[in-house]
Amino acid sequence: MDSVLWIAHTEASGELGRSALEALTTALRLAGPSEQLVAGVFGPGAGRAVAQVGRCGARRWLVADDPQLEQPRYAADVAAVTALVRASEARLVVAPGTSRLHRALPGAAQRCGGRIDTRVTGAALAADGVQIERWFYRQRLVARLSRAHRPWFLLLAPGADAPWSGPAEPPAAIERVPVEVASRTRVVGTEAPASSAQTIRPEADLLLVAGAGWTKKQADGQTHVREAEALILDFLAKTQASLGSSKSLVDQGSEGTPVLSFLSHLHQVGQTGSTPRHPRGLATCCHGEEPHVVGWRFIKERRAINLDPNCGWAQGKADVVYVADAFEVLARLNELLGPTG
Ligand SMILES: Cc1cc2nc3c(=O)[nH]c(=O)nc-3n(C[C@H](O)[C@H](O)[C@H](O)COP(=O)(O)OP(=O)(O)OC[C@H]3O[C@@H](n4cnc5c(N)ncnc54)[C@H](O)[C@@H]3O)c2cc1C
Repeated sequence: MDSVLWIAHTEASGELGRSALEALTTALRLAGPSEQLVAGVFGPGAGRAVAQVGRCGARRWLVADDPQLEQPRYAADVAAVTALVRASEARLVVAPGTSRLHRALPGAAQRCGGRIDTRVTGAALAADGVQIERWFYRQRLVARLSRAHRPWFLLLAPGADAPWSGPAEPPAAIERVPVEVASRTRVVGTEAPASSAQTIRPEADLLLVAGAGWTKKQADGQTHVREAEALILDFLAKTQASLGSSKSLVDQGSEGTPVLSFLSHLHQVGQTGSTPRHPRGLATCCHGEEPHVVGWRFIKERRAINLDPNCGWAQGKADVVYVADAFEVLARLNELLGPTG
């Protein structure tokens, strides 16, 4: 049985994020019943944050809470991860696929002479050792694979496992791991859009997919793009859902056709877009194969609203299809949801 290091970092709130807890569930499974798990947490307040998971059954607790780890910087993060891996002497390293660890973990794997697999969507103990699941060819082919090389680093995709939960209690003993931080990068501030303008929300419970139908001529022979924009934004504000889009819709913007002003190519789901992992999805005015087949691959419960009862992709890939006018449905939904809280 491989010794396993679960590695995570604190969030700005000083706590562990959801994907860190998901990775902990996977790490515990891979460590098996023989208590081979070591927990390693870095970032400010890491010593306090470990209390969140203090009862998970790890046999050692390693913490790197150098104040220089407050800002995510590659040089500092890679040094922290490398120090934790070396102190743990683990053969398997399991980490959540946060943007911070996506940057730092490959470098740490290189420094430790390891191998890394990223975007891992599942990991289990098989008869011949650890087996992981990854998708290839833009998420069309799934592979299950193992490696003989150690240490082996696994960066888990968000949603790959259920988050660990249990009573909060500080672990009996914590080992502080010194980190030699040599970063010349200074963070002087952050420029970010207002949170209300941010419509991509990876943690949201629901993904609303907007298709090109929103900009097409409707029953009255006219387009209603501004109305579509207001309905969608109102729905997103009320539900805090995340927004995805078909390629046709985002492409129209770059061709000068009036399109939803808050859309960018980052919203695109599908073969040449993203494959989000929200628990639920609602496709609206969308016909395409790629958004329904590839873009929705990891969405667990899928529904679609389409005027066309013969929309094959919605029929074939959604659990429920509402044959209805999405303008009317969203207006009614917004009414039922009440004022934006
Ligand atoms: C190599 C390649 C890669 C591609 N990659 C992607 C990708 O990653 N993602 C992607 O999305 N596409 C991708 N495409 C394009 C894809 O094949 C489709 O062309 C595209 O997804 C269609 O977008 P759509 O469904 O929004 O628009 P349309 O096909 O125009 O469908 C609009 C739908 O809206 C419905 N509608 C209209 N008005 C209403 C209303 N009032 N209420 C309800 N429904 C209404 C219509 O019935 C229709 O079904 C790719 C294509 C290729 C060739």
